[in-house]
Amino acid sequence: MSAAIIDGKAAAAILRARIAEAASDLRGRLGITPGLAVVLVGDNPASQVYVRSKAKQTVEAGMRSFEHKLAAETTQEELLALVDRLNADEAVDGILVQLPLPAQIDAGLVLERIDPAKDVDGFHPINAGRLAAGAPGLVPCTPLGCLLLLKQLRPDLAGLEAVVIGRSNIVGKPMAALLTAESCTVTIAHSRTRDLPGVCRRADILVAAVGRPGLVTAEWVKPGAIVIDVGINRVSAPELGEGKTRIVGDVDFDSAAAVAGAITPVPGGVGPMTIACLLANTVTAACLRRGLPKPAL
Ligand code: NAD
Repeated sequence: MSAAIIDGKAAAAILRARIAEAASDLRGRLGITPGLAVVLVGDNPASQVYVRSKAKQTVEAGMRSFEHKLAAETTQEELLALVDRLNADEAVDGILVQLPLPAQIDAGLVLERIDPAKDVDGFHPINAGRLAAGAPGLVPCTPLGCLLLLKQLRPDLAGLEAVVIGRSNIVGKPMAALLTAESCTVTIAHSRTRDLPGVCRRADILVAAVGRPGLVTAEWVKPGAIVIDVGINRVSAPELGEGKTRIVGDVDFDSAAAVAGAITPVPGGVGPMTIACLLANTVTAACLRRGLPKPAL
């Protein structure tokens, strides 16, 4: 292996410490304790784990956590009414509705109901539009975390060729917008891209956000490139025992690490940064909502 391993766990711990400092400063100077409301509908086990971990880290950073757990059969009207209450609640600076939502609920409608000033997931069309226009707003947590990891490695990304595989609203598109704002030359690749390995081999920065275990192999990686693996895929792992599973990324880590200059592992790369960026967005929202300057985190 030749690549440097990008330690997302360590980077996230440093970011969380800065967030805790910013939150304590807001409380000390202005009596403001940033608050994050997390809404979980139903009993998806992965979502339960995420929500628990978000609430725990919110409290550890010195902020207030409001958890709303609703039954799987909750109606769209009931969920929209809760969002309305949270929008109006002065103690709540950030609102996160955990996805996926049950089939009877239109997720788009719910996300659009969240006050854009409290939209700490950055999924509201107003915030997506601001990002596309290069205007200040709340940025989706996962691509924001990827950008922070990249900038920690290389503060000036201007002029680099970046390829983002995946065009989702949650990761791929906002990632491409953030890299464009950093003056990278950006290509968005996806399931219909022709000669995907050839396109990827051009990249100084390669971001994989697909959901296909081990899709990106050494042959796709330009020697020395920075590889950011967003994928979270659960695969069977008989080597760990019968019926056992483990989490892998979209990048075939061992082969890609032999060629790349730096690479994020899965787990321990992008994942920890995502929740840290959610906390960062909550502090940012608490400031921007009150006309205070955005804290430098
Ligand atoms: P998505 O399913 O919404 O989008 C996947 C994208 O990949 C699509 O744009 C599609 O065109 C593209 N794609 C599919 N098959 C492809 C192929 N064979 N070749 C090239 N492109 C292909 O997924 P998403 O929500 O963007 O998530 C992507 C991955 O990132 C998933 O594994 C998800 O679990 C993970 N994820 C991780 C975090 C984190 O915190 N680390 C956060 C969000 C998502």
